[in-house]
Parts: sequence; C-alpha cells; structure tokens
Amino acid sequence: MENSDAPHILVLPLPAEGHIKPMFNLSKLLSHRGHKVTFVNTHHNHNCFLQFTDIASFQTQFPNLHFASITDGLPQNHPRNGALMNYYPMLISRGPRSLLAKEFRELFLRLVEKNEQWQPPSCIIADGLMSTIVMGIAQEFGVPWIPFRTYSATCTWVTIHMSKLFQEGTLLQNNQEIEYISENMKNSSTNIPGLGNLLRNCDLPSYSTILMANESINRDFYIQETLAMIQASGLILNTFEELEFSIITKLAAIFPKVYSIGPLHTLYNTIFTTNSSSTHKDGSLRREDKSSITWLDHQKEKSVLYVSFGTVVKLSLEQLLEFWHGLVNSLKPFLWVIQNDLIPKNLPIELEIGTKERGFMIDWVPQEEVLAHPAVGGFLTHSGWNSTLECIIEGKPMLCWPSIADQPVNSRCVSEQWKIGLNMNGTCDRFIVQKMVKDIMENQMKEFMKSAKEIAKKAHDSTKENGPSYHNFENLVKYIGLRKV
Ligand code: UDP
Repeated sequence: MENSDAPHILVLPLPAEGHIKPMFNLSKLLSHRGHKVTFVNTHHNHNCFLQFTDIASFQTQFPNLHFASITDGLPQNHPRNGALMNYYPMLISRGPRSLLAKEFRELFLRLVEKNEQWQPPSCIIADGLMSTIVMGIAQEFGVPWIPFRTYSATCTWVTIHMSKLFQEGTLLQNNQEIEYISENMKNSSTNIPGLGNLLRNCDLPSYSTILMANESINRDFYIQETLAMIQASGLILNTFEELEFSIITKLAAIFPKVYSIGPLHTLYNTIFTTNSSSTHKDGSLRREDKSSITWLDHQKEKSVLYVSFGTVVKLSLEQLLEFWHGLVNSLKPFLWVIQNDLIPKNLPIELEIGTKERGFMIDWVPQEEVLAHPAVGGFLTHSGWNSTLECIIEGKPMLCWPSIADQPVNSRCVSEQWKIGLNMNGTCDRFIVQKMVKDIMENQMKEFMKSAKEIAKKAHDSTKENGPSYHNFENLVKYIGLRKV
C-alpha cells in the first residue's frame, strides 16, 4: 500500500559515474525503508540508465523511487564521453552550472506545487560538490539539506581545512607560491591538524598542486562548494568508523551530525539479502559485460592482477605502454579495464597480440564481482574512493597510481596508514611497474593480504545489522522521517 504521507527526499548527484553509484544505492535503501525518493539525473545520464535498465521491473521492486531529469547545461551535440578534459570542466564551469541550477530549482517548485501522489520534498540530499546549487533552495523553502560527500572522511577533512585557509588568504594565493610548493616542498609534510605526517604537499587534492596550478576556476569551484557544504544540516559519508574514526570525530565538530554509512555497496547487500529479494545493483550507465568473469573462471586462485584507472583518468599513449610492458614483463596474468573513450589513439598492434598471451583488456566489467573473484589477487588502481572501498571489502592488496582529486590522499592512506598496498608515487616506468607488480602479487603478498583481511572484516562488521554503519543509516532514516512537512 502506498503511504502518501511518507517523507519525500530529492536526491541530486554530481553527474559523474563514481558519484551517481553510491547516491543511487543510498536512494534505493531509503526508498526501501518507506521514504519517497526522487532521483535527479541529467537527461543524458538518465537516457543511458534507461538503456541498461528494465524500468518496469525496477519500478516494481522500488515503487518509492521515482526519476526526474534536468539539463547538464552542455550543448546537445557535446560528446559527453566522460573523460576529464571533455566533460567535467564544463560541468563545473559557470554557464552550464547555472543552467543546471535553474532547472533544479524549477523541478523543486514543480514538486512543491503539483504532486498529487507524494508530499512536497521535505529534505534534499545532494552531492557535496552540488552544495551551492541546493543551499539557496533549501534555505528558501526551509527544508534541511544533507550533503553526501563521496570522498573519504580524511579527504573531506583535508578539503575543508584547505578551503578555510584559502578563504582566510593564508594558503596558495597565487601561482608563484604553487610553484614553490611543487619544486621545493613537494615531499615535506603538511600541517593539517589530526593527520600527523600522513600527507606530503604532493598528496594534497590536486587543485592545490602543480597538476591544476593554472586552473583557478577549478580550485575556486572546490573551495566554494566546500565552504557552502559546511553550512548544511549534516554530512553523509561512504566510509566506516573503524577505518577513519579520529577524522570522523573531527568532522562531527563541524556538522550537526555525521552519518558514516559505508561501505555503502556492502550495506546495500546486507539490507537486501536480509529483507528482500531485490538484486538490482548500481544504476550503471554502461552495459555490463560478463566475459571478464568467464575469463577469470579459467585463472588460478589469487593469480590475476585487476587493473583499472576508473572512469575519468585518461592515460597518455606513453603511460599506457609503460604500464603494459611492465605488466607483461611481470609474467602475472592481468585483467585490464579501460573504457573506449579513454583509450589513446594509435595503439600499436603488438599490444593486442601480447595481451592475448598474458591478459585480457575490456571496456567495462562488473567491478565488485571482479574484485570478489577468487582468481583476483591484487588491484592496480587509480585510487578513486569507490574502487578503494570495493577493494577493501574484498581484503585484497592495492598497487596505487593516483593522479588527481582525492586519489593521492586515498593512496597515501592505503600505503602508509592502513598498510594494505603500495604507492607508485607518480611513476609508471615499465621496470618499476614490473617490480611493484611482483611485490604486490608475490614478494609482499602475504603480509598485505593479512592486513587487508583484517580491515575487510571490520568493514563487513560495520555494515552488519547493528554495526556502526547500519546503525548510522537507521539514524539517517529516522532523522528524515522527523522532517515531514
Ligand atoms: N566501475 C565498474 N566497472 C568498470 C570500471 C569501474 O563498475 O569497468 C565502477 C567501480 O566499481 C567504481 C566506479 O566505477 O564504483 C568508479 O569510481 P571511483 O570512485 O573508483 O573512480 P572514478 O571513476 O570516479 O575516478
């Protein structure tokens, strides 16, 4: 029976794959608990989603979850191929962003004025990087807004700290200082409270490193969104208390409430295996190809290195070849996922022939299933936060090659704090790749596996019924329930 009195939440992700996936999982969980959810995709992403989803069966499983779509602000003929240089900067540039903001506001008004079935929205959950878009609307209509920051707690803490320093004018005012940091202070420790010597200057999120030194628009965007985010009614994080307890505590001094509910895909599995037969997974915008699993089925236990640099990072031809030679020469079988739109042009033919002997290259895999496969023994990763969590839960070591955004912070935590992998520190020279692959998959595998298994157990325990993440999720459900208009 429809409960038309149930609270109604408007969920707005940042329109990028690594952001949509956890927010979609959260939306399904909230709707499963009886709340009404309107999930807002961009038109383009919504159309991709429809291509790969049987929407009728989805709505039968999730009657409380509806979809709406708005513009991404880009011209219709834009390729929208997901690569950082094409899509993301346009999303965060002022013009497209204000169009998106305008349509989001119009959508909110429509839902307030005319929604026969459901109550008007009484809460907004938006990606932390959409904070300036929703803040004004939330204030105008007197509804709470809770950002979901899809970074780790540590990286969230770092960006908040640095944004405040930027705002005060005490950090990286101009490019000269950025150059100074990159040349002379790269390896010296940062003074971010609560992190000891964990982070070096070169590990800071990329808007403050040489990588994006001239992209002041990008830097300003992060700062503005972060400073808006800290005015919200709470904060949702895809992490778990046992992993980042001290930093979560620090964040709890900034936000009225912090809901650490991760790893969300595991919480999802707990709730849906316990309470229902739902199997609909992640709201993926790509076609799932199971041939990788068939290939893995024929490999020996823990013998395969899974390789993925995520959905945004694009390797140069030179980098790709260095990795490829290093992988082939390590003599370890590898499964390398690389999206067609991220492959450099003019790949040499030797690559195709050599790969057949030693590995498998593919456009897209069901990554959680791949990481869980017994044949996979390690993960060469760009250290995106979803990938890091998905690997943590499977208790497998990581070889980290971070490049942008939160990736260097995640990679540093993996290698220096949790000790479940190695950091390649920016190099991809073929001899180093070969050596480090052997270290992860052979020489140091036993010790990394041991610490990885210990952390994996804590992650599983967190999401079990009455575990801290489970409990925090229930508190979030309750909080939203109390906000009915
Ligand atoms: N992913 C996937 N199949 C692939 C490659 C990636 O399902 O072949 C998923 C992966 O499981 C993860 C997300 O895409 O959940 C990537 O997010 P992450 O934060 O790791 O990196 P990003 O792509 O945002 O840099």
